Amino acid sequence: MKLMEYQGKDLFRRVGIPTPNGVYTTDAGDVKAYLTEHPGSWVLKSQVMMGGRGKAGGIKFADDAQQGETLARELLGKVLKSVQNPDGEEVKSLLVEEKVDIASEAYVSITIDRAAKKPVVMVSRFGGMDVEEVAEKNPDDIKKYWVDASIGYSPYIGRRLAFAAELPAGYRKGFPAILGALYTLFMDYGANLVEINPLVLTKDGRVIASDAKVELDDNGLYKHPEIAQWNSESPADEDQAAAVAIGLGMSNYAKLGGTIGVIANGAGLGMGTMDAIRSAGGEAANFLDIGGGAQADLVKKSYNLVTSDPRVNAMFINIFGGITRGDQVARGIVEALAGDDVRKVPLVVRLTGTNAEEGRRILDAAGFVPVETMDEGAARAVALANGR
Ligand code: GDP
Ligand code: MN
Repeated sequence: MKLMEYQGKDLFRRVGIPTPNGVYTTDAGDVKAYLTEHPGSWVLKSQVMMGGRGKAGGIKFADDAQQGETLARELLGKVLKSVQNPDGEEVKSLLVEEKVDIASEAYVSITIDRAAKKPVVMVSRFGGMDVEEVAEKNPDDIKKYWVDASIGYSPYIGRRLAFAAELPAGYRKGFPAILGALYTLFMDYGANLVEINPLVLTKDGRVIASDAKVELDDNGLYKHPEIAQWNSESPADEDQAAAVAIGLGMSNYAKLGGTIGVIANGAGLGMGTMDAIRSAGGEAANFLDIGGGAQADLVKKSYNLVTSDPRVNAMFINIFGGITRGDQVARGIVEALAGDDVRKVPLVVRLTGTNAEEGRRILDAAGFVPVETMDEGAARAVALANGR
């Protein structure tokens, strides 16, 4: 999950990285009202996922409320384009921030170095809008440090990097703590990337994160379900949030066009199940991948999520037992359907692999008739969905 700047800065503040004061808004009138109340110099920053907003004309400066409103109207609705993003991205919201007087712009980021299997910190004194060029033409101007995650971060790493990267003296005092906070954020929120570009040294000697780029690993979002909700503006994102809310990754749940709810473990088996349903003349309403090692409780939550889609009028649960145990799945199904508060739809279950026998016994005892093959299950589900 990629975060917008204002969201990244929310996380920055949680871990103690200084950011400029500001407000987030979707309304030009708000900008006028805010600047009227808070006279001074402000930056209007377009909130889009794409980088390079400065060069694309998405960053504007305002010295009074009227100018602020005019620029906000100009930016909102504008489609920003860059080399990386030629189709462009529409600006729907703005971050209005106190303009800081910049003495120096540095670059700092943390990502995972897959080859080294370690987080790698990158620092450069040539931050700002041309850092890509620095990386290309003068890679030595970007200093790296591979953190041993079993030991973690120590301030000496920050001191060493500030020195090696020749950050201006004004950074020396604040930098180690900021990098430590960035490392905490990276680890605690399961990030793939955290980047501050520019990390500004102000003319009055403060070190401030002027920009924020944060990408979180979807598989870690269950630890911070409130963040998974942040993007829940479009329908697709609501589905993602729903999957995270029950402890799965955000791409584990997808809504489709038909009437048959599908639960399977693994994307491949899910695809196969949907194909089998189509061959049998039906259409999947949705697909939930419950992943490996699904416990009874997760199966129950999954059942409830899939049946919360009103179009679902039959369900096909197709589980290949490996790490996932058939008896656990069967217990989850029986538990899910035991309550009065669940929506009961005609159900077809196929269990194979680990503990499938026991799973089938549990289902038998509860009055379900499990099917043997995927095609048989698909045909049965289509018939049930059609009221037969
Ligand atoms: P990006 O182009 O999408 O990475 O957006 P940034 O937030 O990094 O802003 C781009 C550039 O705008 C920065 O490198 C700064 O040079 C400039 N800028 C942003 N905020 C301020 C500010 O508060 N004061 C000044 N003087 N320049 C700013
Ligand atoms: Mn930037």
